[in-house]
Amino acid sequence: MIEANAICKAYRQAKRRVPVLDRLSVQIDAGEFVAIVGPSGAGKSTLLQVLGCLDTPCSGEYWLNGHEVSRLSEPELAAVRNRSIGFVFQSSHFVDYLDLVDNVALQGFYAPDYDAARSRSRAVELLRQVGLEHRLDHRPAELSGGERQRAALARALFNEPRLLLADEPSGNLDGANTEHLRNLLLEQNRAGITIVVVTHDPDMTIAAGRRLELDRGQLREAA
Ligand code: ADP
Repeated sequence: MIEANAICKAYRQAKRRVPVLDRLSVQIDAGEFVAIVGPSGAGKSTLLQVLGCLDTPCSGEYWLNGHEVSRLSEPELAAVRNRSIGFVFQSSHFVDYLDLVDNVALQGFYAPDYDAARSRSRAVELLRQVGLEHRLDHRPAELSGGERQRAALARALFNEPRLLLADEPSGNLDGANTEHLRNLLLEQNRAGITIVVVTHDPDMTIAAGRRLELDRGQLREAA
């Protein structure tokens, strides 16, 4: 599903060029659940941005589902993201004045065959799946941190992505909410979705079938 070859990514800070990913290569097969670990500042978020087609590498090749995506234009990248990738970030942003159902249903809005009623019923179904059936008409501000992250997962699943990318999704959660989210991710993985998660949660790294450590700009298999 994912094949990255010798990817480089550097940022310009003041007048210095700061290399973050340094000829990084990785292959991830469909159906895998991969945890990415490494110290703060190692470049984990940068890597997820590239894998998620939110950013492009300075050099190297990135193949996603058999297509070379590293040189696509922004509209083409947006189409790839909409079609095949779901995202959950550490702090998820929602539209404050919409209730949860509308926030999730909004994901269907750009589909060529958008249908408001169908989008709403899919949103309700997904919110039920993540245990938020009692929060459907609540505004995002009325949710707990754990509920927000579960809502973010429901939203990420809306377009039936084959790949789910999560950047410290339980970073702000307590133990019980972390466990709930972890179990939901495991459930999605068992249902066939490939998952790549950046995490500091030791139980999440155990749950993932494969652990990769980002170190000096490169990924290596971790014990
Ligand atoms: P991690 O997720 O492992 O904490 P990041 O990918 O967020 O690491 O950051 C890696 C390095 O890249 C850090 O030194 C950070 O300061 C730098 N960096 C990240 N994003 C940018 C940016 N947009 N502009 C400049 N430097 C950045």
